[in-house]
Amino acid sequence: MRGKGFINSLPLVGWFLLSRCRGCGVPSPSLLCPQCLRKIQIVDGSCERCGLPYPQDVPICGSCVDKRLHLDSVIALYPYRSPLKEVLHSWKFGRSYRAWKLIRELFISAMEAKKEKIEAISPHLVVPVPLHWRRKWTREFNQSALLSSLAGKLLSVPVEEAVKRIRHTSPQRGSSFRERKKNIKGAFALKGEVRGKRIIIVDDVATTLATASEIGRTLEKGGALEVHLLVLARVEKMYDTKD
Ligand SMILES: [Zn+2]
Ligand SMILES: [Zn+2]
Repeated sequence: MRGKGFINSLPLVGWFLLSRCRGCGVPSPSLLCPQCLRKIQIVDGSCERCGLPYPQDVPICGSCVDKRLHLDSVIALYPYRSPLKEVLHSWKFGRSYRAWKLIRELFISAMEAKKEKIEAISPHLVVPVPLHWRRKWTREFNQSALLSSLAGKLLSVPVEEAVKRIRHTSPQRGSSFRERKKNIKGAFALKGEVRGKRIIIVDDVATTLATASEIGRTLEKGGALEVHLLVLARVEKMYDTKD
Protein backbone atom coordinates (compact mmCIF):
# COMPACT_ATOMS: atom_id res chain seq x y z
CA MET A 1 0.00 0.00 0.00
CA ARG A 2 1.28 3.44 -0.88
CA GLY A 3 0.48 5.22 2.34
CA LYS A 4 2.66 7.04 4.81
CA GLY A 5 5.40 4.49 4.37
CA PHE A 6 5.77 5.36 0.73
CA ILE A 7 6.27 9.04 1.51
CA ASN A 8 8.69 8.20 4.32
CA SER A 9 10.72 6.12 1.91
CA LEU A 10 11.14 9.23 -0.22
CA PRO A 11 12.18 11.76 2.39
CA LEU A 12 12.74 14.61 -0.06
CA VAL A 13 9.32 14.25 -1.66
CA GLY A 14 7.75 13.97 1.78
CA TRP A 15 9.54 17.09 2.95
CA PHE A 16 8.42 18.96 -0.15
CA LEU A 17 4.79 17.97 0.40
CA LEU A 18 4.91 18.97 4.04
CA SER A 19 6.86 22.19 3.62
CA ARG A 20 4.74 25.32 3.46
CA CYS A 21 5.41 28.99 2.91
CA ARG A 22 5.71 30.73 6.30
CA GLY A 23 3.93 33.76 4.90
CA CYS A 24 0.80 32.43 3.19
CA GLY A 25 0.81 28.69 3.81
CA VAL A 26 0.95 27.44 0.21
CA PRO A 27 3.15 24.36 -0.34
CA SER A 28 6.64 25.70 -0.97
CA PRO A 29 10.08 24.06 -1.01
CA SER A 30 11.62 27.27 0.33
CA LEU A 31 10.77 29.13 3.51
CA LEU A 32 8.81 31.77 1.58
CA CYS A 33 7.09 31.39 -1.76
CA PRO A 34 8.22 33.85 -4.50
CA GLN A 35 5.14 36.08 -3.97
CA CYS A 36 5.78 36.42 -0.24
CA LEU A 37 9.49 36.98 -0.76
CA ARG A 38 8.69 39.91 -3.06
CA LYS A 39 6.63 41.52 -0.29
CA ILE A 40 9.78 42.09 1.79
CA GLN A 41 10.88 45.56 0.74
CA ILE A 42 13.76 47.61 2.10
CA VAL A 43 12.68 50.77 3.96
CA ASP A 44 12.81 53.70 1.59
CA GLY A 45 12.43 56.94 3.53
CA SER A 46 12.44 57.15 7.32
CA CYS A 47 12.69 59.42 10.34
CA GLU A 48 16.41 59.85 10.97
CA ARG A 49 15.83 60.18 14.69
CA CYS A 50 13.60 57.16 15.40
CA GLY A 51 13.76 55.09 12.19
CA LEU A 52 10.01 55.00 11.55
CA PRO A 53 9.35 54.42 7.84
CA TYR A 54 7.94 57.39 5.89
CA PRO A 55 7.54 58.11 2.16
CA GLN A 56 10.74 60.19 2.37
CA ASP A 57 13.54 60.93 4.84
CA VAL A 58 12.64 63.36 7.64
CA PRO A 59 15.00 64.59 10.42
CA ILE A 60 12.39 64.21 13.20
CA CYS A 61 8.74 63.10 13.34
CA GLY A 62 5.58 63.51 15.37
CA SER A 63 6.07 60.10 17.02
CA CYS A 64 9.50 60.83 18.48
CA VAL A 65 9.47 64.62 18.95
CA ASP A 66 8.40 64.30 22.61
CA LYS A 67 10.72 61.39 23.42
CA ARG A 68 14.19 61.66 24.86
CA LEU A 69 16.37 59.21 22.98
CA HIS A 70 20.05 58.62 23.71
CA LEU A 71 20.65 57.81 20.07
CA ASP A 72 22.07 60.04 17.34
CA SER A 73 20.16 58.24 14.60
CA VAL A 74 18.22 55.06 13.86
CA ILE A 75 18.65 53.20 10.58
CA ALA A 76 15.95 50.62 9.94
CA LEU A 77 16.42 48.20 7.06
CA TYR A 78 12.93 46.68 6.76
CA PRO A 79 9.49 47.37 8.21
CA TYR A 80 8.52 44.75 10.78
CA ARG A 81 5.53 43.14 9.07
CA SER A 82 4.45 39.86 7.50
CA PRO A 83 6.05 37.77 6.10
CA LEU A 84 9.39 38.99 7.56
CA LYS A 85 7.72 38.78 10.96
CA GLU A 86 7.12 35.03 10.54
CA VAL A 87 10.67 34.46 9.25
CA LEU A 88 12.10 36.28 12.28
CA HIS A 89 9.87 34.22 14.54
CA SER A 90 11.09 30.95 12.97
CA TRP A 91 14.66 32.11 13.49
CA LYS A 92 14.27 33.34 17.05
CA PHE A 93 11.99 30.72 18.50
CA GLY A 94 12.16 27.82 16.05
CA ARG A 95 15.92 28.23 15.53
CA SER A 96 15.40 27.54 11.86
CA TYR A 97 18.62 27.51 9.88
CA ARG A 98 16.69 28.26 6.68
CA ALA A 99 15.25 31.36 8.36
CA TRP A 100 18.75 32.50 9.39
CA LYS A 101 20.01 31.99 5.84
CA LEU A 102 17.21 34.17 4.48
CA ILE A 103 17.68 36.83 7.17
CA ARG A 104 21.39 36.88 6.41
CA GLU A 105 20.68 37.48 2.70
CA LEU A 106 18.12 40.19 3.46
CA PHE A 107 20.52 41.89 5.88
CA ILE A 108 23.38 41.85 3.37
CA SER A 109 21.30 43.29 0.51
CA ALA A 110 19.78 46.03 2.68
CA MET A 111 23.23 46.93 4.07
CA GLU A 112 24.37 47.30 0.48
CA ALA A 113 21.36 49.51 -0.35
CA LYS A 114 21.96 51.72 2.71
CA LYS A 115 25.74 51.67 2.40
CA GLU A 116 26.18 55.41 1.93
CA LYS A 117 24.05 56.29 4.92
CA ILE A 118 25.78 53.77 7.19
CA GLU A 119 29.32 54.56 6.06
CA ALA A 120 28.64 58.29 6.57
CA ILE A 121 28.62 57.52 10.32
CA SER A 122 32.28 56.38 10.09
CA PRO A 123 31.79 53.96 12.99
CA HIS A 124 34.71 52.80 15.13
CA LEU A 125 32.78 49.99 16.76
CA VAL A 126 29.73 47.72 16.37
CA VAL A 127 28.05 46.80 19.66
CA PRO A 128 25.47 44.03 20.11
CA VAL A 129 22.57 44.16 22.57
CA PRO A 130 23.57 41.80 25.37
CA LEU A 131 21.32 39.02 26.62
CA HIS A 132 21.11 38.43 30.33
CA TRP A 133 22.87 35.19 31.30
CA ARG A 134 19.58 33.75 32.47
CA ARG A 135 18.08 34.23 29.03
CA LYS A 136 21.22 32.89 27.40
CA TRP A 137 20.42 29.61 29.12
CA THR A 138 16.98 29.30 27.68
CA ARG A 139 17.36 30.76 24.22
CA GLU A 140 21.04 29.89 23.79
CA PHE A 141 21.78 32.37 21.08
CA ASN A 142 21.82 36.11 20.80
CA GLN A 143 20.36 37.23 17.48
CA SER A 144 21.74 40.73 17.97
CA ALA A 145 25.26 39.27 18.33
CA LEU A 146 24.90 37.29 15.09
CA LEU A 147 23.73 40.36 13.14
CA SER A 148 26.44 42.48 14.79
CA SER A 149 29.22 40.18 13.63
CA LEU A 150 27.75 40.20 10.12
CA ALA A 151 27.55 44.03 10.18
CA GLY A 152 31.13 44.22 11.50
CA LYS A 153 32.34 42.07 8.61
CA LEU A 154 30.42 44.05 5.98
CA LEU A 155 31.64 47.40 7.34
CA SER A 156 35.15 46.18 8.29
CA VAL A 157 34.57 47.54 11.79
CA PRO A 158 35.44 45.66 15.00
CA VAL A 159 32.59 44.17 17.05
CA GLU A 160 32.78 44.42 20.81
CA GLU A 161 30.40 43.59 23.63
CA ALA A 162 30.98 47.01 25.14
CA VAL A 163 27.99 46.77 27.46
CA LYS A 164 26.74 43.96 29.66
CA ARG A 165 23.39 43.34 31.26
CA ILE A 166 23.58 43.65 35.02
CA ARG A 167 19.93 43.23 35.83
CA HIS A 168 17.27 40.87 34.53
CA THR A 169 14.30 42.67 32.98
CA SER A 170 10.88 41.17 32.43
CA PRO A 171 9.80 40.63 28.82
CA GLN A 172 8.74 43.97 27.48
CA ARG A 173 6.09 43.19 24.92
CA GLY A 174 3.01 45.36 25.04
CA SER A 175 4.13 48.22 27.24
CA SER A 176 4.54 51.87 26.33
CA PHE A 177 7.83 53.69 25.73
CA ARG A 178 7.59 55.26 29.18
CA GLU A 179 6.97 51.92 30.91
CA ARG A 180 9.72 50.20 28.98
CA LYS A 181 12.12 53.01 29.72
CA LYS A 182 11.44 52.67 33.43
CA ASN A 183 11.73 48.89 33.26
CA ILE A 184 15.10 48.93 31.46
CA LYS A 185 16.73 51.81 33.36
CA GLY A 186 20.02 50.77 34.96
CA ALA A 187 19.94 47.35 33.29
CA PHE A 188 23.32 47.82 31.56
CA ALA A 189 26.87 48.57 32.59
CA LEU A 190 29.91 49.46 30.56
CA LYS A 191 32.31 46.63 29.78
CA GLY A 192 34.66 48.09 27.17
CA GLU A 193 36.48 51.33 26.38
CA VAL A 194 34.23 53.56 24.29
CA ARG A 195 35.62 57.03 24.94
CA GLY A 196 35.69 59.17 21.79
CA LYS A 197 34.18 56.42 19.63
CA ARG A 198 31.34 56.48 17.13
CA ILE A 199 29.27 53.39 17.81
CA ILE A 200 26.58 51.45 15.96
CA ILE A 201 24.34 49.23 18.09
CA VAL A 202 22.91 46.39 15.97
CA ASP A 203 19.65 44.61 16.78
CA ASP A 204 17.04 42.46 15.05
CA VAL A 205 13.80 44.26 15.91
CA ALA A 206 13.14 47.76 17.28
CA THR A 207 9.82 48.54 18.92
CA THR A 208 9.89 51.49 21.34
CA LEU A 209 13.69 52.04 21.23
CA ALA A 210 13.73 52.01 25.04
CA THR A 211 16.39 49.27 25.21
CA ALA A 212 18.64 50.83 22.55
CA SER A 213 18.26 54.25 24.15
CA GLU A 214 19.29 52.88 27.56
CA ILE A 215 22.35 51.24 25.98
CA GLY A 216 23.01 54.60 24.30
CA ARG A 217 22.82 56.32 27.68
CA THR A 218 25.31 53.80 29.14
CA LEU A 219 27.70 54.34 26.22
CA GLU A 220 27.35 58.13 26.45
CA LYS A 221 28.25 57.96 30.13
CA GLY A 222 31.37 56.08 29.10
CA GLY A 223 32.33 58.97 26.81
CA ALA A 224 31.13 57.63 23.43
CA LEU A 225 31.13 60.35 20.80
CA GLU A 226 28.04 59.17 18.91
CA VAL A 227 25.65 56.24 19.28
CA HIS A 228 23.53 55.03 16.36
CA LEU A 229 21.16 52.13 16.06
CA LEU A 230 20.94 49.80 13.07
CA VAL A 231 17.98 47.41 13.07
CA LEU A 232 16.92 44.70 10.68
CA ALA A 233 13.21 45.36 11.27
CA ARG A 234 11.41 48.39 12.64
CA VAL A 235 7.92 48.17 14.14
CA GLU A 236 5.99 50.77 12.17
CA LYS A 237 4.71 52.82 15.06
CA MET A 238 5.81 54.12 18.43
CA TYR A 239 3.99 52.51 21.31
CA ASP A 240 2.49 55.40 23.20
CA THR A 241 -0.33 53.52 24.76
CA LYS A 242 -0.66 50.06 26.15
CA ASP A 243 -1.59 47.84 23.23
ZN1 LIG B 1 3.72 32.70 0.43
ZN1 LIG C 1 10.81 60.01 14.51
